[in-house]
Amino acid sequence: MKWEGQRESDNVQDARNSSGGRGLPIGGRGIGIGGVAIALLASWVLGVNPLTVLGLLQGGGGAPLPQAAPTATAPPQDAAGRFVSVVLADTEDVWGAYFQRSGQQYPAPQLVIFRGRYPTACGAGEAAMGPFYCPADRKVYIDLSFYDTLRERLGAPGDFAQAYVIAHEVGHHLQNLMGTTEKLDRARGRVSEREMNAMSVRLELQADCYAGVWANHSQRGKGWLEQGDIEEALNAAAQIGDDTLQKRSSGSIVPESFTHGSSAQRTRWFKRGLEAGDLKVCDTFSATAL
Ligand SMILES: [Zn+2]
Repeated sequence: MKWEGQRESDNVQDARNSSGGRGLPIGGRGIGIGGVAIALLASWVLGVNPLTVLGLLQGGGGAPLPQAAPTATAPPQDAAGRFVSVVLADTEDVWGAYFQRSGQQYPAPQLVIFRGRYPTACGAGEAAMGPFYCPADRKVYIDLSFYDTLRERLGAPGDFAQAYVIAHEVGHHLQNLMGTTEKLDRARGRVSEREMNAMSVRLELQADCYAGVWANHSQRGKGWLEQGDIEEALNAAAQIGDDTLQKRSSGSIVPESFTHGSSAQRTRWFKRGLEAGDLKVCDTFSATAL
């Protein structure tokens, strides 16, 4: 991916050195830095259910917000941070143009790069949660150590694998704007956990499909993909499929507990969005087969 020299986003806050990040105890239970990677893998196995994140909004048992307000956020200066900023900027270009075609303005999300633990409107964000989107403050949160995990522990290297992760989270932002997230949140408590998981899978696969639509428009606009980039994204989608993660961690697969979809489903929906370049093909909620 030829990203160097491309526009960086104005919506990135680098909070890695702020008091909101480093000074806080990680996890409140003293999980040291050595345990983070393992905790991270575990949380992906369990699936960071976005609906759980939403539950935190309603006082559903989330960690209390730290008192200290985050300070001293600035645009990132290092290559890893600038890469994220360039990808976010491209999602702004793509979705900005997409919204404009129907006479609307795209309210772009903010993206916070944090380290360890960080206060969000959805409760305390932790590195171990993996990257996530908080609908309440319309921000994407990422601890960049996730990319090390993706490359080294989950077998998904490559810059376009990393770009896909950002595009997926921005996909959740689109769902928030379109009211999809809220619709699902209203079902909370009215349906069984099993049904909630099934809805979560449809939400996640839709975000993967949106990421594919982004990749299509991104390439048409910038022509910056290189040999192997698409394969990197497809491989990442496969490596973080629930069945693959469960097999990796415990050796057994429990489909009812899936929250993000199987490897085959994740790659299929990313591909569908990629090939069509149109959000209309991403209606996972009406699909009879995923
Ligand atoms: Zn997601």
